[in-house]
Amino acid sequence: MTRREELERNLAAVRARIADACRTAGREPDELTLIAITKFFPAPDVTELAWLGVHDMGENRDQEALPKVAELPPAVRESVTVHFVGQLQTNKANRVARYADVVQSVDRGRLVNALDRGVATALERGERHTRLGVTIQVDLDEGAADHRGRGGALPEEVPALADLVAQTEHLDLRGVMAVAPFGVDEAATAAAFERLARIAEALRADHPGATWMSAGMSGDLEQAIAAGATHLRVGTAILGSRPSPR
Ligand SMILES: *Cc1c(COP(=O)(O)O)cnc(C)c1O
Repeated sequence: MTRREELERNLAAVRARIADACRTAGREPDELTLIAITKFFPAPDVTELAWLGVHDMGENRDQEALPKVAELPPAVRESVTVHFVGQLQTNKANRVARYADVVQSVDRGRLVNALDRGVATALERGERHTRLGVTIQVDLDEGAADHRGRGGALPEEVPALADLVAQTEHLDLRGVMAVAPFGVDEAATAAAFERLARIAEALRADHPGATWMSAGMSGDLEQAIAAGATHLRVGTAILGSRPSPR
């Protein structure tokens, strides 16, 4: 089997799961954006996926993402939306602002300001020509032992952070993002995504343009769709297993 055939087969299985989950939830698959999380996989896989109709890619490490995005053929780069979904150090904001279309992992004020300045610099230098989309990452792991291990703002911090993003010059507030709590069962995952849905709803009341709810990965996309996710971030189920767990 060629890599394209393998990706095509995996993608068909993921699309079937999405269709099933949508039927159960009374939703339409075209309400959902599928983001292929391509971390650990090379640029040619991104190109293959674009051929197969997936025009959103996600990366979680700057040192991997920057050269990978640069390696994409120009026509592919233009057709693909690049989402940065990993924890981001403030001092990397300038680099990420050069190539990301959306940063989904914004969880603190200093990062908001650093990204706004980074986009300003990239615009000045002609390294980008667009504003940067931003989702606020929400920590659904409250109270867990490894609290904040994967980043995210506390639910009560979201309104002020959203207002800060809305006041920047170059950032567009798109909504919220979250990862399900680690090591919990399906019911607890579903409950966490319902909490996220209520946070997303409250955010939309203040910021009507912030329509995204980015939730759901290979193992829990059904629960995310049931809760109202608009963006799914799927890695393993499309690309295969990664060489080492992250
Ligand atoms: C790796 C990653 C994903 C995809 O996870 P899979 O389980 O491989 O689908 C989604 N979101 C974030 C933030 C990730 O780091």
